[in-house]
Amino acid sequence: MIMPGLHAILSPSAAHRWMNCTAAPRLEEKVEDRGSAYAEEGTLAHAFCAKHLKEFLGVPTKDEEAEIAQLFDKYHTGEMDEYTETYKVIVLEKFNAARSKTPDAQLLVEVRLDFTKYIPDGFGTADAVIIADGCLEIIDFKYGKGVKVSAYENPQMKIYALGAYEAFSFEYNINRVRMTIVQPRIDNLSEFEITAEDLQAWAVKDLQPKANEAYSGKGKQLPGEWCQFCKVKCSCKALAATCIKTATEHANPLLVSKKDMETIVLPQIATIKTWLAGIEEYALQQALSGVQYAGYKIVAGRSVRKITDPEAVMQLLADNGFAAESYTKPTELRTITDLEKLIGKKRFAELCKDYIDKPQGKPTLAPDSDKRPAFNAAADDFKEINL
Ligand code: SF4
Repeated sequence: MIMPGLHAILSPSAAHRWMNCTAAPRLEEKVEDRGSAYAEEGTLAHAFCAKHLKEFLGVPTKDEEAEIAQLFDKYHTGEMDEYTETYKVIVLEKFNAARSKTPDAQLLVEVRLDFTKYIPDGFGTADAVIIADGCLEIIDFKYGKGVKVSAYENPQMKIYALGAYEAFSFEYNINRVRMTIVQPRIDNLSEFEITAEDLQAWAVKDLQPKANEAYSGKGKQLPGEWCQFCKVKCSCKALAATCIKTATEHANPLLVSKKDMETIVLPQIATIKTWLAGIEEYALQQALSGVQYAGYKIVAGRSVRKITDPEAVMQLLADNGFAAESYTKPTELRTITDLEKLIGKKRFAELCKDYIDKPQGKPTLAPDSDKRPAFNAAADDFKEINL
């Protein structure tokens, strides 16, 4: 998590992007960060996580309380309490296990880290750090649920681990580094461990050269799935060129062959969707701020009619002789998502598990690397499903 109000040009959270596309940070630098409701929601959840752990350690929680007070009314839910509590339990279980081996094990919360040995102007904040028995563990809480994040060879986690190693290896004997991601909204607990030696070798061989290239302003554009959260994806020519090439560079000039579909088109679906969504969003924002695109205008989207005063309408219908059961409907249960938000996912499952059915999902084409198991007889599995 980055310190609020401060922003590193080469932020650890964007490392996967700038280690692949070293041009991105300097191109993104001039684009204003407009923030988002998701980011604010994440900030509130992180504040709860830090507060829980700090309370356990008996250290002041003034900063967290200020953040919570600011965002509580807008984003707090029962579900958030449950997930931040899950994080606390996982961290404390790890800490207790560490203490059982090493009585002087350390738990540190919201640790400010310096990465400048490997990344120019690099800094960041680790959610939690445990040091015990020759092992340094970095724990990162993720409140998002859109993308399942793996700790395996994760550059963001490795950067945090390097910063923590630099900060504590003078005081403690550290020979192993464990990186843990806790993403409770999708039951994801991902761990990855390497030796301190391998971590440092990676930093010198891979991280440092890429960081220097990205910081220098002489980086190279390289489109790929990491473009998804790039701030210049809407206007990036390298991304546009890749997408257009996908549509044009085929062996058969008239029809796309099965081979071209496998090797050229399908691997680029996510990248093309990213590009199109970026353009659409950017062009609309520009038009709304007064830019005129020849041949285009802003129109109102579809909207749904709404009764402004239901009680007055019910009274009118009753006065005009309609029976109440003809214009009202019985009490309706909220959606599963709403109910989980209201009372927490775990509690909802405890109470209602016997009444939840999860039908077969709609078939989706996914790359072999996708974690979901393949269906052996796709035609049979999906023959009842209407596409
Ligand atoms: S959109 Fe992709 S290729 Fe373009 S600058 Fe961003 S990360 Fe690099």
